[in-house]
Amino acid sequence: MTPVGDDPVGAAIAVAIRSLINDAATAAARVDSLDELKQIESRLVGKKGRLKEIHTQLGQLPVEGRKDAGRLLNDARAQIEAMLKQARERIGSTTRVLDPSFDASMPGDDMLGGGLHPIVQMMYDLNDAFTALNFDIYEGPHITSEQYEFDHLNFPPAHPARESMDTFWLSDSNALAGPQRLCLRPHLTGASVRYMQQHEPPFRFVYPGRVYRNESIDAGHERAFFQYEALIVDRHVPFTAGKLLISTILHTVFGREVPTRMRTGFFPFVEPGFEIDMQCQVCSGKGCSTCKHVGWLEIMPGGPPHPNVLRAAGLDPSIWTGFYINVGLDRLVMMRYGIDDIRLFNSGNLRFLHQYK
Ligand SMILES: [Zn+2]
Repeated sequence: MTPVGDDPVGAAIAVAIRSLINDAATAAARVDSLDELKQIESRLVGKKGRLKEIHTQLGQLPVEGRKDAGRLLNDARAQIEAMLKQARERIGSTTRVLDPSFDASMPGDDMLGGGLHPIVQMMYDLNDAFTALNFDIYEGPHITSEQYEFDHLNFPPAHPARESMDTFWLSDSNALAGPQRLCLRPHLTGASVRYMQQHEPPFRFVYPGRVYRNESIDAGHERAFFQYEALIVDRHVPFTAGKLLISTILHTVFGREVPTRMRTGFFPFVEPGFEIDMQCQVCSGKGCSTCKHVGWLEIMPGGPPHPNVLRAAGLDPSIWTGFYINVGLDRLVMMRYGIDDIRLFNSGNLRFLHQYK
């Protein structure tokens, strides 16, 4: 007997439910992909599926028959869902991990690999060259004091470089003009005094890094740029030792010997001071617009530390002498690669930077 009594609609519903269960059993046994299973599920028990369709016919039954028919439908749903669940587990355990349409032999996407900035790369190359000559590598603080940047380096009290026109003073410390006033380092030389105070002579060390000046920015000037400084201190340091420092740097940068010359020049922290020029690498010394037709380019100041600097470092200038050089690293890298605008270095322009990877 049918649980929905003798009502013809009830009989039809009972038949439809049986047929639905049979179809579900057949489909669940045959299905072999999750996509297909989804379609079957939606066709049988989905919102617009056959079960739902049967459900809508319940309203035509007499009240007493609806309850039984409703129970039948619920049982059918539970049975079908169990079958589909089983099918899903069977497919899941046999589905290949890799989608068959995946072709492992296809070339991959071109990944944008990172690289060192050309100036940082140059700095590391120079560090390697100086480490091979038994130099220490030292790093001073970026925020430092008037004492280390000017007083210790023999800058007279009224020297214009102390003005905020040139140097970035930390605003909080403006009231405090004097040795403890803080600034962003306008050169690296202050770090050399720190090093000397912390070590026993003789010394040979380099101390590269970024420095900050209150410059108007143009193709040749930046507010933050890199310098590379080296210092030798010993009992007897001939000027030719300075030449060795210079040729080590230029050989590392250009990969060949580059003629240099030294002229006298004035810098507060050296005595005597030298302007060191290199032969223009654009015209090989014949004269061109880059070198303003003189064949030489000014690349660094240098010279033995001024006695006052040695005293500030705690050394006796009657015993110790030395040789400083201070190179603008950005300019050397520009010359090495023929870059005509210093602003490109900080532009974040990847098309520019990728050339130097
Ligand atoms: Zn030239």
